[in-house]
Amino acid sequence: MFSGTNLPRVGGYNLNVVLSSIQAADGISRVEIAKQTGLTAQTVSVIVRRLIEQGIVKEDGSSPSSGGKPRTTLRINPRAAYAIGIHFDPIEVSVVVVDMMGQELAQSRHGISPRLEPEALIAEAAEVAHKRLAELDIPDDRVLGVGAACPGPIDQSQGLVISPPRRDCWTEVPIKRLLEHHTGFDVIVDNDANAAAIGERWSGHGRTVSDFAFLYMGTGIGGAMFLSNHIYRGVSLNAGEFGHIVVEPNGTPCYCGNRGCLEAMCSPAAIVRNVRAELALGRASSLVHLYDEDPELVDHTAICLAAVDNDQVARRVIDRVAEYLADCAVIIANALDVELLVIGGKGVIHVADIYAEKVTEFLQSRPLARKTHTLRVAISDMANNGAALGAASLVLHAAYAPNTADLVGV
Ligand SMILES: [Zn+2]
Repeated sequence: MFSGTNLPRVGGYNLNVVLSSIQAADGISRVEIAKQTGLTAQTVSVIVRRLIEQGIVKEDGSSPSSGGKPRTTLRINPRAAYAIGIHFDPIEVSVVVVDMMGQELAQSRHGISPRLEPEALIAEAAEVAHKRLAELDIPDDRVLGVGAACPGPIDQSQGLVISPPRRDCWTEVPIKRLLEHHTGFDVIVDNDANAAAIGERWSGHGRTVSDFAFLYMGTGIGGAMFLSNHIYRGVSLNAGEFGHIVVEPNGTPCYCGNRGCLEAMCSPAAIVRNVRAELALGRASSLVHLYDEDPELVDHTAICLAAVDNDQVARRVIDRVAEYLADCAVIIANALDVELLVIGGKGVIHVADIYAEKVTEFLQSRPLARKTHTLRVAISDMANNGAALGAASLVLHAAYAPNTADLVGV
């Protein structure tokens, strides 16, 4: 359940259940909706008429049915509403505009100067968002709101970024209030991993799944739990910190106070540090010429490309990371018993297949529930800007997903 937002909700619980089944399907009839949702044909018919009148759903041809008359196919009208997503990563800001189906219509991305104050950065992002809307000819009254994704921990109810790693000047920044002031839209804030998971639910691998976990590899490593159709947020709204699961007792110290956390062992910064340490020892590698020119040139991207090219040093480090990820995936599987694990974030670009293969191997042989069902592994198709797209989906999800609070009139 989302708290701390005044984003408009479109209707009651049943309406959102119907809308959700239309959104998840690639074309669906009224009869199929009734079958899927357990609602009566008459209720579905009344709700669909309302959604069509509001321009949210459209009739789109028909499909033959067994015996009876052809059934009219219903689809979401993607142009019914729009949302803006902004991802404040420690090193760059991404802004996207999406349609009602969560499809990206425009995006911008720019690096962050470490000296830029948070409010100046937020004002700049707001200006970029308005420019993209103007280019797309989207009037403000068709925009549902702005979703902002930030590195955790955050206080979602207050819309505060608390103390993200590597961004000292972002302590206790009232990002919701500042973004609402600078954009003029309602704003919902979440951590980047939760946002990316909602993006998967809205337009990625999680569309038809009620329970999945998301392992997010960005600048740091985070996670999210989408359970019974909702993000599980925990007592302080910061659940899902998979990056701080210990995978190597007595391993590298982590800023959280523990040692050997997934983040300390597998973040892009850790990968770069480990490869440079090997190169400093004089190991043979295709990266040596870069290292000799300037060790800074041996960055995460260069290492991932070298690993895919089977460079021994890079591949060894990436393979070890894959094993740690797989260890963590088994812990997640045993704790949550979900049907899908999505791995995403820009940290998996180029090496996603190496990670997915090892994680799949471990998940097929280690979790206790493996004999009752398989746990699918998927790589997010939104690795490059999943958190920004997910931030926009936060808005769509808050406005349109079935919310049990609607059942009791809260
Ligand atoms: Zn840690």
